[in-house]
Amino acid sequence: TGGAGAVAWVDGALQDEAAARPEAWSPSFHYGYGVFEGIRVYPTPRGPSAFRLAEHISRLFASARLYPPLDVIPWTEEDLRRAVVETVRASGHDACYVRPVIHLHAGGVGNDPTVGTARAIVLVTAWGGLLQAGDLQLTISPWRRPGPAILPPGAKANGSYGPLMLAKADAVRRGYDDALLLDEAGHVVESTGANLFVRIGDELISPGLPQGALPGITRSSVFSLAPAAGLRVTERSLRLDEVLGADELFLTGTGAEIRAVRSVEHKAIGNGTSPAADQLASRYQKVVRGLDPACGDWLTPCHPS
Ligand code: PMP
Repeated sequence: TGGAGAVAWVDGALQDEAAARPEAWSPSFHYGYGVFEGIRVYPTPRGPSAFRLAEHISRLFASARLYPPLDVIPWTEEDLRRAVVETVRASGHDACYVRPVIHLHAGGVGNDPTVGTARAIVLVTAWGGLLQAGDLQLTISPWRRPGPAILPPGAKANGSYGPLMLAKADAVRRGYDDALLLDEAGHVVESTGANLFVRIGDELISPGLPQGALPGITRSSVFSLAPAAGLRVTERSLRLDEVLGADELFLTGTGAEIRAVRSVEHKAIGNGTSPAADQLASRYQKVVRGLDPACGDWLTPCHPS
């Protein structure tokens, strides 16, 4: 998707994107064993800037530590932050999506990852958004979000996306934008590619890592922005009846940004307005575009000015 002539960072050097392709026998390709990140770059007054780069790279390394031997790479977090900046600069993009990946480039035909060799790559594409425009119509997935005894919920790992993609395919085929996934106990955890918040009065409630959701960086940004919008935030599990009966429901993610949900299983949420999501989304758009000095340190300029 990076397109013809696209550039990638491959184990220490900028190369043609083709050099980043996994080998046909890559165990990551066959068995879905790898970790990755998704980072957005926005145009700002200081040039194209990566949003919360340090947090994304730190989550990448935390994910890799849970999937040995993906943590055995000769690069530090600082190296990977620099790799992202260099790749974005070389791509010439103003606004883009960055996908760092740590995967097993070489290994045996078997499924023992410990005999494999890890490799880090950084890809860049112009891809801009995860979901269709407009308020979202969601379904409740028949597929459950695997709990912490099945998969590490805090790792952004390729293997975690099997169930999420089954849920997405089912939702799209049935005419919905996306799906909410429940855990084994029936609590609502997250969507197929974003965290969720409900608003009940002036309180925002969002399931996080302790509830089996990916600890989203957009979600943590909303935690920081909420008090100025007059909202309290609580991290806890959510029953389905609380979600269906909430005043508002919205999703947060790097790709999704902050997106109001209109209905779940065709049941309208609240009174059809989303004042909290609207207010947070408009502040978020200022923040990511470098127009909010209070959050300037969340942006890393990628082009020298
Ligand atoms: N949950 C899942 C399953 C996701 O794929 C994502 C997107 N990375 C998120 C939550 C949101 O995380 P972030 O805000 O860090 O993009």
